[in-house]
Amino acid sequence: MTSEIGNIEISKEILEKIKIDSKKLSKLITIMHVCGTHEYTVAKNGLRNLLPNNIKIISGPGCPVCVCPTGELDLAIELSKRENTIMATFGDMMRVPSSTISLFEARARGHDIRVVYGPNDAVELARKNPNKEVVFFAIGFETTTPSVAFELTNNPPSNFSVICTHKTVPPAMDLLLSLPNLKLSGFLLPGHVCAIIGSKPFEPYAEKYKAPMVVSGFEVNDVLMSLYYILRQNIRKEAFIDNTYTRIVKREGNKKAIQYISDVFEPVDSIWRGIGMIPNSGLKIQKKFEEHNAVVKFDVKVEEKIEMPKGCSCDKVLIGNIPPQKCPLFGKSCTPRHPIGPCMVSHEGACKIAFSFREIVE
Ligand code: SF4
Repeated sequence: MTSEIGNIEISKEILEKIKIDSKKLSKLITIMHVCGTHEYTVAKNGLRNLLPNNIKIISGPGCPVCVCPTGELDLAIELSKRENTIMATFGDMMRVPSSTISLFEARARGHDIRVVYGPNDAVELARKNPNKEVVFFAIGFETTTPSVAFELTNNPPSNFSVICTHKTVPPAMDLLLSLPNLKLSGFLLPGHVCAIIGSKPFEPYAEKYKAPMVVSGFEVNDVLMSLYYILRQNIRKEAFIDNTYTRIVKREGNKKAIQYISDVFEPVDSIWRGIGMIPNSGLKIQKKFEEHNAVVKFDVKVEEKIEMPKGCSCDKVLIGNIPPQKCPLFGKSCTPRHPIGPCMVSHEGACKIAFSFREIVE
């Protein structure tokens, strides 16, 4: 069977195969994904309600904005208050609550905070404003990291620096698979992340936890095929990495992008908002690029914090303990227009997605 990505007849065919084979399961299987775009596809197409009752999909920490700790956001807000400073970041970060105000509110108070599409725009801002410091608040998983690395190796102007909050997915999966209450039976591996680092870095975890894993693209039939492959591994009691996204992802990844990442960054323990410290799950700018490391350059310190706003259950949503709809604030005091927690802000946030598609869960 091939994955014809947009063909509804193929969707029906895969779903039928899933339904037939699910009868061979002796227990409920829980499959986690760690990607906001997978959640988008699942919710938009109502897949949770189309799958048999003994197959459950849960959403993990697949939204980099959601797991950005309050301390790092506080740091960006603190730096944006400096004289002659332009803070540049992605639009998704603007409304995320910090321990005081959001970047959006800081901009309303007169600080120069700009939304950019990528680090290249921030470098351009620095070139056009030589009398100002331009700080790029860099966030994202492996998908966005190479573009920051590229800019730092490409002779950026001296008034350009970076707050590096990049995180890496494999160590987080290690943590999630070790949580006994989740009882995961498989993982949909994030296609964009694997396009950069390949599927190879996930192999030790498939082996260590005997967990089926399938690299998946983002169209509905990509996801359905990947779920089917995970189901098949469960039935056969196998645990290895399969790939339904071969049109993009290779086992070894994109060697050039990987080289850029390792030339510029080094692994560091990192705090994930709502989750806590995950060893070696962050990236730090290497000493040789220190002049462009905003934290070193401006010597600003803020307290590291992981807590969520009062009443918010994002910590439970982020590790799949509850679906967004089970948060008491969901759709009441917390909506995309008035978000209380980070998961209601970003387009990749599970709460925002569930709200947008009015997804109903049991
Ligand atoms: S609905 Fe709002 S408050 Fe509740 S978990 Fe989601 S973002 Fe947090």
